[in-house]
Amino acid sequence: MNENSRKGIVVRNLNIVMMIIASLLSVYLLFSNYQTTRIYRLSEQITTKYIDCQKDAADMQAASDYLTNKVREFSINGNISCIDDFFNEIESTRRRDNAIADLERYFSGTRANESLQNALAASNKLLEQEYHSIVLSIEGRGYDIKDFPEVLQNISLSEEEKALSNEEKILLSQDLVFNESYLKQKQDIYANINNSIDELISVTKNEQIENSSEMLGQLHKQNITIVVLLIIVFFLVVFTNRLILSPLHQAVLNIRSQKKIPIKGSEEMRFLALTYNEMYDEKEKQASELTYEATHDSLTGLYNRKIFESMKEIIDDQQAALILVDVDKFKTINDTYGHAVGDKVLTEVANHLRASFRSIDYVCRIGGDEFAIIMIHAGPELKELISEKMENLNHSLNHPRRSDDIPPVSLSIGIAFTDQNISFDQIYKNADRALYKVKEKGRCGYGFYE
Ligand code: GH3
Ligand code: MG
Repeated sequence: MNENSRKGIVVRNLNIVMMIIASLLSVYLLFSNYQTTRIYRLSEQITTKYIDCQKDAADMQAASDYLTNKVREFSINGNISCIDDFFNEIESTRRRDNAIADLERYFSGTRANESLQNALAASNKLLEQEYHSIVLSIEGRGYDIKDFPEVLQNISLSEEEKALSNEEKILLSQDLVFNESYLKQKQDIYANINNSIDELISVTKNEQIENSSEMLGQLHKQNITIVVLLIIVFFLVVFTNRLILSPLHQAVLNIRSQKKIPIKGSEEMRFLALTYNEMYDEKEKQASELTYEATHDSLTGLYNRKIFESMKEIIDDQQAALILVDVDKFKTINDTYGHAVGDKVLTEVANHLRASFRSIDYVCRIGGDEFAIIMIHAGPELKELISEKMENLNHSLNHPRRSDDIPPVSLSIGIAFTDQNISFDQIYKNADRALYKVKEKGRCGYGFYE
């Protein structure tokens, strides 16, 4: 495993770890968000609770004042509807009892509740005095006590009070709800109610402070989580791009333009690229083998007739020399030494031809014992050089080395040069005619088409 692929694995693992962390942080963020919502709702509840209870305390005071007003009104004008209103408040409206019930529910065990309980107790204590005042007023005004609520019928006046005149009874009833002791008790109720409200404010404020700090804590943690998430997402994007997207893009471009894929990115991408490149090499090899087989003669390795034919178009307007070669009496060699030796002779001739010409020239086997050479950029000025080559060729083939294990052979060669006014086919015929002449003259030689 090389350095790059080790680095690829490390980065891939880091990517997985970051994805897990990002998922966990997202879950945490969801949980924290739920917590924040819960705290916010709690804060709303605290405020609602405070508003409700403050209203209750105000109701308690209003109810107490209402009772005072009604009892005072009755003691002054003896209007019976005041008594109805008075008892309606106590028995039906029950603002004082409702207030206590609310505080009991929300602030049970707190001093706010305790103070309001005290206010209620003081208010109830005052009721006794108010009942007393009402009874005195009833008696003083000559109303029948039986027409009034039972609670009033149970109030008994002292002997001295009974002995008082009607006016005195009314005056005493008024005194009972206006005197200093009555006012002091009213103050006591107010003080308790105010205490309760102060306490409510204090408790609510503390709860709100606690709540706010918890909420701030959550928001702070959320901010940190979001920053960490952003960093992770940034790295995930960069890594994903470097490990997968960019190599994938490059791979697609290269595949489209039929090139190998660069080995980079994640371990998996590198593996894919390596596998693709191996397949690519294999395909290239097979293709070049097929091309070689299609263009070369299998016995001698020279270009085959197909290539020679295709050269016609290319050669047409270029200066070149066409050399046709035929092995002399080759049938006799086959017949005398056998086909295998015949093949060996052909191969040897091919090797000599290949060695005699430049690499830019086309040396082809165009038939059984026929060869053709196209010498590129060669004109009549090279006649001498070509003649020398042909003589050397025949000389070496006529004097084979022992180790070559082949009989001496000779070649008949016809040569023609291209001409812009003559087609390649005609040049071929010309070279063939030159060759034929050599054969006619007794073989083993060369001749230029004149
Ligand atoms: P000439 O001097 O007039 O050319 O006489 P030749 O005997 O060489 O006559 P020709 O060129 O017509 O004969 C070619 C022979 O080459 C005919 C064929 O049996 C033989 N031959 C063709 N292809 C192969 C081959 O691949 N291997 C072998 N050993 N012989 C082949
Ligand atoms: Mg021949």
